[in-house]
Amino acid sequence: MPLIKLRGVTVDFPFTPYPCQEDYMSKVIECLQNKVNGVLESPTGTGKTLCLLCSTLGWREHFKDTISARKIAERMGAYYTDMPKIIYASRTHSQLTQVISELKNTSYRPKICVLGSREQLCINQEVMRHESNHIKVHMCRAKVSSRSCVFYNNVDEKSTDKEIMNSILDVEDLVKTGKKQRVCPYYLSRTLKQHADVIFMPYNYLLDPKSRRAHNIELKGAVVIFDEAHNVEKMCEESTSFDLTPYDLISAIEAVDRLLREQASDISKADSAEDFNVESMNSGLKLDITTIAKIKRQLNNLTEILMDLESSINDFEMPANNQGITKPGSFIYELFQSAHVNYETKTAVVEAMEQITGYLAGKPGVFLNTSGLQKVADIIQLVFAADPIEGSKKPQIGNSMKEFKVRSS
Ligand code: SF4
Repeated sequence: MPLIKLRGVTVDFPFTPYPCQEDYMSKVIECLQNKVNGVLESPTGTGKTLCLLCSTLGWREHFKDTISARKIAERMGAYYTDMPKIIYASRTHSQLTQVISELKNTSYRPKICVLGSREQLCINQEVMRHESNHIKVHMCRAKVSSRSCVFYNNVDEKSTDKEIMNSILDVEDLVKTGKKQRVCPYYLSRTLKQHADVIFMPYNYLLDPKSRRAHNIELKGAVVIFDEAHNVEKMCEESTSFDLTPYDLISAIEAVDRLLREQASDISKADSAEDFNVESMNSGLKLDITTIAKIKRQLNNLTEILMDLESSINDFEMPANNQGITKPGSFIYELFQSAHVNYETKTAVVEAMEQITGYLAGKPGVFLNTSGLQKVADIIQLVFAADPIEGSKKPQIGNSMKEFKVRSS
């Protein structure tokens, strides 16, 4: 494989690059060396992905080599704590699979991981047979906390397997390895992430604050590559857009009512309040009596909040032309404030909603749609994702949501 020198960096490219590929790679390296953002354009079929991978990995090798021996010695031997992680984001997982297969054709063998959802990576049949994604999530969490998923229990042991840890595995490879080795691919990929030089993920994992938090993605000091970046604006719009319908709210209220009825009947069946433990009835989700009492108080508040929210939406007059209207960013906060949801109350409200969803999702033989409740919780997290201005209880309007387009449906 030809070694080429660009801006002092040796790049190992699988074949002799065309001049346009050299130019492209030089620009990538220039951005990395100067720590600046770059927007690069190149016609289809010019090998952009390969150029991006080889130039970035070549620069990373060079960077590693230029850390002085003294600095390495100071920092516990040869582990390069300052090495920047590379985050490579594409629009879809199938595009990421192609990128990973291009990486396999190079001489670079970085430690990598690809992030995926439980929907894509879970191999527990009991969980996977549920259609609803959020039920899968809650069942998995319950199994993890009670250590009742055999695949999860093998993650620690398999995380020391060098062959797995050093392999270049895309989503399909992860699932295959998980089934063969009886180890959870989802949690394996999270372990791989801790040691990875390159982390592959779809755009929404980076752009959606909820996903970013859920996957614990640290951007500080990282090199972030957006492949096909012209899609990013649309993805940003999509990740901060939501529909909230009266149907969602009615469904959420039904779920809350259901828990109130369940709770009253379960407590009356228990020998004493102290003996009451929901664990036996909900696949490992532990709720003690104090938590249940707290949830009960919150449930009453929540029902009121959801009803207020529903009437706020119903009261809102939409123009007849079906074009929707654009409101200032403050509108969405005022809407939620009318239901007493604000920066001060949002965490308690969301936590209570998630506990209820988890409880009902894990209850065997119960058919209940908890998607409305989950959706309302997700929306509250999205609306209040940005921190309020320091020292103020008011939202950071203008930074978080400049304007809000409201459409009737
Ligand atoms: S731990 Fe892994 S295999 Fe087990 S239920 Fe969760 S995602 Fe599925």
